[in-house]
Amino acid sequence: MKTEFSLAQLADPDIKEADKILRACVHCGFCTATCPTYVLLGDELDSPRGRIYLIKQMLEKDEKPTAEVVKHIDRCLSCLACMTTCPSGVNYMHLVDQARVRIERDYARPLIEQGLRMLLAWVLPRPDLFRYSMWLARLGRPFARLLPAPKPGSVNPTLFSRIKAMLALAPGGLPPPGPQAGSVFPAQGNRRGRVALLQGCAQQVLAPRINQAAINLLTRHGIEVVLVKDEQCCGALTHHMGDDRDALSRARANVTVWQREAEQGGLDAILVTTSGCGTVIKDYGYLLREDRDYSAPAAQVSALAKDISEYLAGIALLPSSQKGDIKVAYHAACSLQHGQKITGAPKELLSKNGFVVKDVPESHLCCGSAGTYNILQPELAGRLRDRKVANIASVEPDVIAAGNIGCMVQIAGGTSVPVVHTIELLDWATGGPRPALN
Ligand code: SF4
Ligand code: SF4
Repeated sequence: MKTEFSLAQLADPDIKEADKILRACVHCGFCTATCPTYVLLGDELDSPRGRIYLIKQMLEKDEKPTAEVVKHIDRCLSCLACMTTCPSGVNYMHLVDQARVRIERDYARPLIEQGLRMLLAWVLPRPDLFRYSMWLARLGRPFARLLPAPKPGSVNPTLFSRIKAMLALAPGGLPPPGPQAGSVFPAQGNRRGRVALLQGCAQQVLAPRINQAAINLLTRHGIEVVLVKDEQCCGALTHHMGDDRDALSRARANVTVWQREAEQGGLDAILVTTSGCGTVIKDYGYLLREDRDYSAPAAQVSALAKDISEYLAGIALLPSSQKGDIKVAYHAACSLQHGQKITGAPKELLSKNGFVVKDVPESHLCCGSAGTYNILQPELAGRLRDRKVANIASVEPDVIAAGNIGCMVQIAGGTSVPVVHTIELLDWATGGPRPALN
């Protein structure tokens, strides 16, 4: 695609990067077929190609984003299915990230929406606050049905539809907190490795059992696990909302503490059980590339970051206790399959460990979770969830496995089939406790 940036504009490293990305796009439109919002709405401006065009216009003209541009960029899930499909290697992720930052900086959203976004950006990365907010949401849930319903067929979110979505996502109760930051879990038997395990934000409140299963499995296989003190939210939530000041400061803080841990105790990997976080941590090197003090350590951290399934694929697991009588629908989280290009490892691990793995039809399509998307765009997120749940039901599974807490919560809201993390099944198969399957 031909671009028309001035030399002065190209002196900005972000614009230079955007120019490179835009020039790679040949406008073929292959990406439209796998874009969830285009599949649902059939509007070119809700497709990757349409959004790329809108971003190009906005950046070239150096204009403030219009309400129309914001609407179509906000509808993008950042699922990155378009990047998997694109034959020209267009890095849509870095382009849309840049557009979101510009929208956040230059566009005046209605005050109520600004307030809601600030609230989400403040509460979600802070586990203590998030825990309290879940209790409050639980109290408010009975009143959700008193809120006015959105117009039938409308995909435009309202304040009420967003509040309803928040209340609906709150669980009935919360488990007790899991292992504390600063804990070290020694390897059983001979030590074969040492890893840091990302503690996560929402996940440590909603499902501490996930990281507990990872710790059980890893230590059982001779891997020492450390929960690094002073680690923060990875920054994915605010990064996807365009608040790069917050996201980058969190990235720097994490680079500092992980680098210190690697120097003091040694780290073979930084493991992540929430693939949405993993995608962003693997991108720290890019995000901090212009930071003289952090670019090199951030690149080292990104190189150390691994999804738990990626790491386990490289070690020999103990013999499985499973007999091949449990049918697992594997839900491929977008951040894992499109963001990190990890497609085979989780399924191979499950089938090697005695589970019958079923591929879900239309597995390339997002479930609608996408960070805060299911709160900010509840109508589209709801349609995607219903479609995902119907596709999962078609393979008649006993259990659904996924590698991302956001997807787990989203899918669980639409089905009675139990939803667990892949690591819980692998832990069980190799000697750990049975996850809640019914
Ligand atoms: S598939 Fe790639 S090259 Fe083709 S329109 Fe989409 S982004 Fe551009
Ligand atoms: S990231 Fe997902 S929703 Fe956004 S344009 Fe690409 S395929 Fe469509």
